[in-house]
Amino acid sequence: MSMTRRHFMKKLGVVGGAAVLNGCSPEDTAQGHSVSWEPAYTQLQREGRLAERVQQAYRKFEQCDLCPRRCGARRSAGETGFCGATTRVKVYSHNPHFGEELPLVGRGGSGTIFFSHCNLRCVFCQNWPIAHLGHGREIRDAELAELMLDLQRRGCHNINVVTPTHVMPNILSAVHLALKKGLRLPICYNTGGYERAENIKLLDGIVDIYLPDLKFMDSAESARYAVTGPEDYPEMAQQAILEMHRQVGELVTDDRGLALRGLMIRHLVMPNRVAGTREFVAWVAEHLPRNTYVNIMAQYRVEHRAFEHERIARAITSQEFLEAIDWAEQAGLSNLDERSLAMARMHRRRLG
Ligand code: SF4
Repeated sequence: MSMTRRHFMKKLGVVGGAAVLNGCSPEDTAQGHSVSWEPAYTQLQREGRLAERVQQAYRKFEQCDLCPRRCGARRSAGETGFCGATTRVKVYSHNPHFGEELPLVGRGGSGTIFFSHCNLRCVFCQNWPIAHLGHGREIRDAELAELMLDLQRRGCHNINVVTPTHVMPNILSAVHLALKKGLRLPICYNTGGYERAENIKLLDGIVDIYLPDLKFMDSAESARYAVTGPEDYPEMAQQAILEMHRQVGELVTDDRGLALRGLMIRHLVMPNRVAGTREFVAWVAEHLPRNTYVNIMAQYRVEHRAFEHERIARAITSQEFLEAIDWAEQAGLSNLDERSLAMARMHRRRLG
């Protein structure tokens, strides 16, 4: 039985600070989602609006303004812009991933698809051979749809599209094709955050889970550490996140704790307070509900060209991570990532 958005919202309860979809039992489906739950895009398809949305997105390739760089590249005529992507999607890998946030991972893993190229390209990028150099294999949208179906067959709980901004039209097209062949997993839009809110509106009713980074709060820092510096990163990312929240609200999980819908924000703590973590938690507390899922991440590594920049050419210290968690708690954020909190406890014990 299908469930409308209104019915879906009615079934929400609140347990331990996290919204839970009542009545979903573990044995319902291989992925753990209730048979009565359905991803947003099935509703859009029933309304006959999904194909039109794919066409709208594809028109962006005529003069690309998919991200705030607005290169205007005529990708449909073979031109490439800053990101280096054409109209043909390039994929590096597709696999169940167990290192993502617990609500995405469950038992079967998060079904990640890593796209080549990136519209941001930070100097500290951990995936630089894929994002900067474009390593990967060009495929058609129909094959991308098959990768999604393959991840579903392998027991993943969601389709986690990693670095999706510059290939968003291909993703929508693939979802449309895969839906016709039985895709019923939520789409998780896993973005670096350099987005245009008006393009995020095209995803309304298609994406169920948003997983954006909010990397920098200061425009000078973002210009310094994201290659050919977009000074508008903080503003663009914040506007996009507000639009994401408008669409999907706070995180909703089923009774196994698996994410079904909602916003999950990531923020990587950087050395010397470069990321502006204090400002980040204050912004979340001011603009979003305090129980917004927030992952304050400790795994900063000196990758790619970070060693050329003195302030970010080292790992973070325990103190830097702990002050970040303290700031988040003091700001009243009540739904912090479980593993980050466990790591903070470990650091505290170690420091005595
Ligand atoms: S997606 Fe790529 S081509 Fe399009 S505006 Fe952004 S950087 Fe330019």
